[in-house]
Amino acid sequence: MSRFFHSRLNGIDPYVPGEQPQTKPYLKLNTNESPFPPSPHAVRAAAAEAARLHLYPDPTCHDLLAAFADALDVGINEVFVSNGSDEVLAFCFQGLCPNGVAFADLTYGFYPVFAELYGVPADRIALREDYSIDIRDYGTDDRTVVIANPNAPTGLALSVGDIKSLLQSNPNRLVIIDEAYVAFGTESAISLLHHYDNLLVIGTLSKSHGFAGARLGYAAAHPDIIADLNRIKFSFNPYNVNRMTLAAGVAALQDHAYFVTCRDRIIAGRIKLLEQLRLRGFFCTDSKANFVFATHPDYSAPAIYTQLRALGVLVRWFDVPRARDYLRITIGTDAEIDSLLVALDRVIKLA
Ligand SMILES: *Cc1c(COP(=O)(O)O)cnc(C)c1O
Repeated sequence: MSRFFHSRLNGIDPYVPGEQPQTKPYLKLNTNESPFPPSPHAVRAAAAEAARLHLYPDPTCHDLLAAFADALDVGINEVFVSNGSDEVLAFCFQGLCPNGVAFADLTYGFYPVFAELYGVPADRIALREDYSIDIRDYGTDDRTVVIANPNAPTGLALSVGDIKSLLQSNPNRLVIIDEAYVAFGTESAISLLHHYDNLLVIGTLSKSHGFAGARLGYAAAHPDIIADLNRIKFSFNPYNVNRMTLAAGVAALQDHAYFVTCRDRIIAGRIKLLEQLRLRGFFCTDSKANFVFATHPDYSAPAIYTQLRALGVLVRWFDVPRARDYLRITIGTDAEIDSLLVALDRVIKLA
């Protein structure tokens, strides 16, 4: 730490992304990327835009907002786009948590980092013993609530009915639902948007549309909340979404058939992987995401993680309370799932 670093940030414990090895060719099942590239239309749109990289992108993101409004069935003044959903989450912690924030004790690891970065007092609400969320535990005060639905890394989802109850009993509190994994089989809370002005839904094309490298997140909410997000964006980085991503995003949202094909393959892969892991004695949560969360009674999670790594397969192990016994494994292609299982059988000595 240099002597210039602000003392308020001395205690910050930055987010640690999953390994992104740039040299050895690993089978990467550790960061919930899509195993499929973006739509070919999106690839072509991004390539065409490359020749205009000397010009700033549209700071209003008009065409992309129109495409999201269309895809999400909301008004253009009810959507916002960002440089990955991490950026809009950061804006929320910075500007939309005036009375503090509450989130689960086991959830997306960036929430506590953002709370620390922006000095927002954070209350961690314990998941039930089975890792599910009981919305009654969030009480009725004025702290902003942030819930990942489905949750990460458990993959467990809340019903829209539960989210509705939370909104209904807390009209004066902002409820943020992070739907990074909603495409893989959970009902979106966006259907509640026109009934509750305290709902903010956040999403990303990273996992659902193969856009992790493009960085494209979105938010949907009452126009007043969207205007607040724009206040922050235009005070920070008016050009937050680059030209290639703006163009690729429009094309990807318009290619609905390609999205459906990829999503359905991932859901089928999840069903197969869950079945195969359970056959091998793993306990797995009922994941609705593009990953599974699995533990084995006879083999320690860090030992499996280390041995899989030695065999060229990367999965994610979190050395945090309540997740230490589990591995989070991203759903790959069918062939990747088969390779994972071959490696796993060497590790758990069943082969
Ligand atoms: C991956 C993820 C994000 C961030 O995605 P971006 O790539 O920044 O769009 C946000 N929330 C959760 C729960 C995630 O798993």
